[in-house]
Amino acid sequence: LAQTTRRPQAEAQIDLNAIAHNARILVDAAAGAAVMAVVKADGYNHGAVEVAQAALAAGVSELGVTTVGEALALRRAGIVAPILAWLHSVDTDYDAAIGADVELGISSHTHLEAIVDAARRVGAAATVSVKIDTGLNRNGVGPADLDSLYAALAAAVADGSVTVRALFSHLACADVPDHPVNDAQKARFDDAVERARRAGLEPTVLHLANSAAALTRPDMHYDMVRPGIALYGLSPAPELGTFGLRPAMTLKARVALVKSVAAGEGVSYGHLWVAPSDTTVALIPVGYADGVPRTLTGRFDVTVRGVRRPSVGRVCMDQVMIDLGPGDTDVRDGDDAFLFGPGDAGEPHAQEWADALGTIHYEVVTGVRGRVERTHV
Ligand code: PLP
Repeated sequence: LAQTTRRPQAEAQIDLNAIAHNARILVDAAAGAAVMAVVKADGYNHGAVEVAQAALAAGVSELGVTTVGEALALRRAGIVAPILAWLHSVDTDYDAAIGADVELGISSHTHLEAIVDAARRVGAAATVSVKIDTGLNRNGVGPADLDSLYAALAAAVADGSVTVRALFSHLACADVPDHPVNDAQKARFDDAVERARRAGLEPTVLHLANSAAALTRPDMHYDMVRPGIALYGLSPAPELGTFGLRPAMTLKARVALVKSVAAGEGVSYGHLWVAPSDTTVALIPVGYADGVPRTLTGRFDVTVRGVRRPSVGRVCMDQVMIDLGPGDTDVRDGDDAFLFGPGDAGEPHAQEWADALGTIHYEVVTGVRGRVERTHV
């Protein structure tokens, strides 16, 4: 089965040209700053290796991930670009990270001590970047611990076990570009940089901006920007527009069954929807086990043959139903049914699901799972 002409029943199709297009928008917006593409969580569920390759070919220079495991997977796929991993659990394999030249974010003394031990075992200096907590109050070193961590780092630099490459931080409110917290975080970041210099550290790279700040706050670009969501074509600040980004993921399935339903018949569990007249419904073989949330019941459309059709009845584990309306239908088994995507076939945008669900499109695209096959075009 090396090659198959079979088309999947349900598919998350990733348009790598869209990834490249979005990467170029980010490179242009960075206006001379470098771009680190964030490909954590398997490239926001778009395929970290394929996305990384497309983004690097389009002018991005570095990659960012959450875990060392994610970084090592990229290395195993042959990616040689710089990779930063910033969130570590107690059993993180720092030895492997140092051996594979993965840059390590540091948020605590515990991280630093474990990394220094690993560097001694491996016999090579670890490249580290300090993650500064400037107000997100999540991962990162807070102001109270900064000077003591800097002192320990300076000692580790002096004994050859680490090299400090970057200082970086992450914004809490960047999707609202003029939010005062952004400026407060920038001021704290500048202060942390100043304190590093006073401690004798000489980081060569500073980075703070996620997608939203990369696209709306040039004063926060420093040496590098660190976008994720925009690379996948989803606006980091939807109320400000699309920024010309093109969504890379299309979720589609193929109509599995077309059938008549008589007026007055209830459809799906609980009979939440009752056919108001004789009608035809089509069954789309994806459900909540595949990442179509059950809470989306009755609140989304599916596009088939260029027409948006309302979903009816409860979303089930493996299937959803759409109403094709009374009279003859041109919809047939095997037709493509588009759940969300860039809109080329008239299908909804992931943002519509996010609005209906009271969440963000990040969660919509990373929530696709189960039997959905991911393909790259
Ligand atoms: N940097 C860090 C540390 C992150 O955790 C993330 C993602 O949440 C990003 C950058 C990218 O953010 P965004 O996807 O909003 O561009």
